[in-house]
Amino acid sequence: MAAPAPVFDSPDPSFADLLAARPALAMDPIAGLMVEEVSLARIADVVGTPTWVYSATTLRRRARSLRDALAEAGLDASIHFATKSNPALAVVNLLHQEGLGADVVSEGELRAARAAGVPASGIVFSGVGKTEREMRLALAEDILQLNIESAEEAEMLSAVAASMGKRARCALRVNPDVDAKTHAKITTGLTENKFGVPIAMAPALYAKMCALPGLDPVGLTVHIGSQIAQGVASYRAAYQRLGQLVRELRAAGHPVLRVDCGGGLGIPYRDETPGTPAALAGAIKAGLGDLGVKIMLEPGRWICGPAGVLLARVIVEKQATTRRFVIVDAAMNDLLRPAMYEAWHGILPVSAAAFHAPLSPADVVGPVCESSDTFTKGRDLPALPPNSLVTFLDAGAYGASMSSTYNARPLAAEVMVEGNRFTVIRDRQSHAALIEGQRLPPADHAGWAT
Ligand SMILES: *Cc1c(COP(=O)(O)O)cnc(C)c1O
Repeated sequence: MAAPAPVFDSPDPSFADLLAARPALAMDPIAGLMVEEVSLARIADVVGTPTWVYSATTLRRRARSLRDALAEAGLDASIHFATKSNPALAVVNLLHQEGLGADVVSEGELRAARAAGVPASGIVFSGVGKTEREMRLALAEDILQLNIESAEEAEMLSAVAASMGKRARCALRVNPDVDAKTHAKITTGLTENKFGVPIAMAPALYAKMCALPGLDPVGLTVHIGSQIAQGVASYRAAYQRLGQLVRELRAAGHPVLRVDCGGGLGIPYRDETPGTPAALAGAIKAGLGDLGVKIMLEPGRWICGPAGVLLARVIVEKQATTRRFVIVDAAMNDLLRPAMYEAWHGILPVSAAAFHAPLSPADVVGPVCESSDTFTKGRDLPALPPNSLVTFLDAGAYGASMSSTYNARPLAAEVMVEGNRFTVIRDRQSHAALIEGQRLPPADHAGWAT
């Protein structure tokens, strides 16, 4: 069923407003839209489209400002970048250079984080369904901690660790029953969600974990949702509850050394007003600051979302009876968020002339054979003749990482910009790679297994 388009009660931000709020972007009167000091038209010429473009300086700046906010609040904290938001090795490696570890949710992400240079001691393994194989790998690598999501998983991890002669450092993921007031598909901290254990069950389960032979419980973890975009009140409530739980567990004689405060800090895609790093640090301090626990954070989107754009080329502009369709060469298989969450992304033309041209409403769509392959409806845009370039803003998180090859469309290239240089950090997938690993079974069933 098609979801209703979101209704906003404020007008869309203007091109100038979108640009002003994004320090990595600038409009050059001749070269057109730039990421740092590199023109997107140049990248399109050299690398083709669609292409993800990430600003290294923005990634660094954001990592530093989060780190600084935690330090200024006097918190002893480590940051573990949620690699699911952008697992590009170059991105994870750059953030590692800035002192961030990694939060991973699969064997593939664990291997990617290690390949990107993150030491095992900086890696947290989250996720509601870790397989035995993933647990074994995490324990063999001796990662910092595994976050446990249920009594059943605690038993399983204990058995796996004991069979390896180890004790697994682990934290219990608590569901604080706090409404993060975000999209239903990305809220995780309500009792009805699949994540974590209800806070009322946590004391008994933590006690049980302490008694299991293969576990070394080190603390608690919480993650209430993603794109939390209305201040930090829900964080405050969650950390308050976690703080009470820490006291309760300690009173019962259990060690609680760390609290992993999760991720979820939102970014302004349109005109949202998410909390700042300083406000988040304040919420952590208020709920957990006087407990002497080591604080951990698992941000994804906040770090890398604003650092990336998706660069696309117009294939054709189609005038239907009542609507203007701009059909671009990027699609829902590249940037899934609009189709999946009705997400709003800023769209800017790349040429300076188009940036200043008269506007009229258009639907921007991809070539995929689904009606939901629609990036926006009724957006005010200039005329965009074939071969015009456009950018989808704030596409650095849950962009490339959610891509698929639906409609046999190769994965787009990824580029990193720093200052006046750029480099391809991931080649565009080849059409040969798309069919690699497939075979036509012999018609006589020779070699078929029974
Ligand atoms: C997805 C996720 C994150 C990161 O969320 P963002 O909204 O990108 O900050 C952190 N922790 C856990 C457990 C997650 O599932």
